Amino acid sequence: MATGWNFHELYLWHETGNAAQFFQPSLTIEPGEHAENAATKRRFRNLMEVSGLTERLSKVASVAVSEDDLALFHDRDYIRRIKTLSDERGGDASYLTPFGHGSYEIACLAAGGTAAVMDAVLSGDIDNGYALVRPPGHHAERAQGLGFCLFGNVPVAILKNRAKHGFERVATVDWDVHHGNGTQAAFYADPSVLTISIHQDGLYPPDSGFHKERGEGKGEGYNINVPLPAGCGHGAYMSVFERVVLPALTRYKPDLIVVPSGFDASAADPLGRMMLHSGSYREMTRLLMQAADNLCGGRLMMSHEGGYSAAYVPYCGLAVMEQLSGIRTDIDDPFLPVFEAYAGQPLQPHQAAAIARAEELVAVSDSGCE
Ligand SMILES: [Zn+2]
Repeated sequence: MATGWNFHELYLWHETGNAAQFFQPSLTIEPGEHAENAATKRRFRNLMEVSGLTERLSKVASVAVSEDDLALFHDRDYIRRIKTLSDERGGDASYLTPFGHGSYEIACLAAGGTAAVMDAVLSGDIDNGYALVRPPGHHAERAQGLGFCLFGNVPVAILKNRAKHGFERVATVDWDVHHGNGTQAAFYADPSVLTISIHQDGLYPPDSGFHKERGEGKGEGYNINVPLPAGCGHGAYMSVFERVVLPALTRYKPDLIVVPSGFDASAADPLGRMMLHSGSYREMTRLLMQAADNLCGGRLMMSHEGGYSAAYVPYCGLAVMEQLSGIRTDIDDPFLPVFEAYAGQPLQPHQAAAIARAEELVAVSDSGCE
């Protein structure tokens, strides 16, 4: 069994500048590091190194995507605006999405790393894989960046690989705590991509990620949003998988499963209000591997999105990589017993009610699917 791993040093050099968490520094709060900085990614990479796991994985090289690749999803005018700003001193991709000199090339590498891991899975060179990329991508829309994302890494990778491999159906399961609005928008009218997003209700983007957003035209029924109340823990997410994600995948029968993977639904995250721990991410990975084995020859890949706890993202990431590779290292997550013991980890009645509403969408997604 071979598990792919993509990382590039330049991912860490994407510059988001100083901020008050993610707002522009002002004269009321001392500027500090922007919430989306290199530390979480670097420390995930570092823990992979010291655990000895990296060297046992199949390294997948980043190959930058071209402007034409980006244009499979994005407007040319938008792509060129980012390129022009990046060639100068950087700028903002719209709102709260700062970037520095050279970020265009780094973003092309990030989309390219995602595309390369997907290509390797589809070619059978690896069984599954993870692209630890930066900047993230799942908020980026056709003509604007959003929420720290410049380009849609996953949409670009899917569209580029579809042109090469000609697969018929892809399912995305976005477990980042924020709504995967960009991935949803990319395939909103496209029944060949089932997009599922599990996120904190009403978090980000505002006014986005509701049950009623089900797709349009031929794509109607092929977008499933699972907005959850703040405070959900392990039990709620397990219920989402059991009642929504796995039945939807079984009905859809994808050729490939793609996870926009954010670790900001963890109990330690400063930007989310959920309570997951490394054991939750390990179990969600196991369930998706099982689904992929049953449905599509095990073809599963993940592309890194959010996750802002520099102390905890590495442990969540390592758990996912151990599960994907089937290799257990001797590293223990020191936070695990603490977070597992938090009150409210089991499924709560109001959470079950929210999940039941999303469950109704699965039956709808079945109609006209065959
Ligand atoms: Zn996020």
